[in-house]
Amino acid sequence: MENNTSSNIPSWQNSLKLAAACPLCGYKFKKIEALVVEEHGNTHLFYFRCQKCQHAILNLVFSHQMGIGSMSLVTDLSFEEAIKFHEATPISIDDVLETHLWLENSDHKKLFNK
Ligand SMILES: [Zn+2]
Repeated sequence: MENNTSSNIPSWQNSLKLAAACPLCGYKFKKIEALVVEEHGNTHLFYFRCQKCQHAILNLVFSHQMGIGSMSLVTDLSFEEAIKFHEATPISIDDVLETHLWLENSDHKKLFNK
């Protein structure tokens, strides 16, 4: 059910209120100036900084028939880096297996055991 006082505000802006406090310092946000990393249907990925500790936060907001959900992730990425990595090709299972085999068979351990 939508709040009458904010019915003219898009639902994703209302859902940012779910990110009410910084997950690191606990500062309760009075206002969030978020940048949009991506919007896809009812799912939005935002980037913003805590006004107190200045840590960056990625916030995924999604709405569906049962309501609105939100997940926050503290990051050291800049907004530009968040865009870059969000658009990058995902790591596949084959990538992980190839890296595992390389680690098992390479001489990299000699680099760390000097
Ligand atoms: Zn903070």
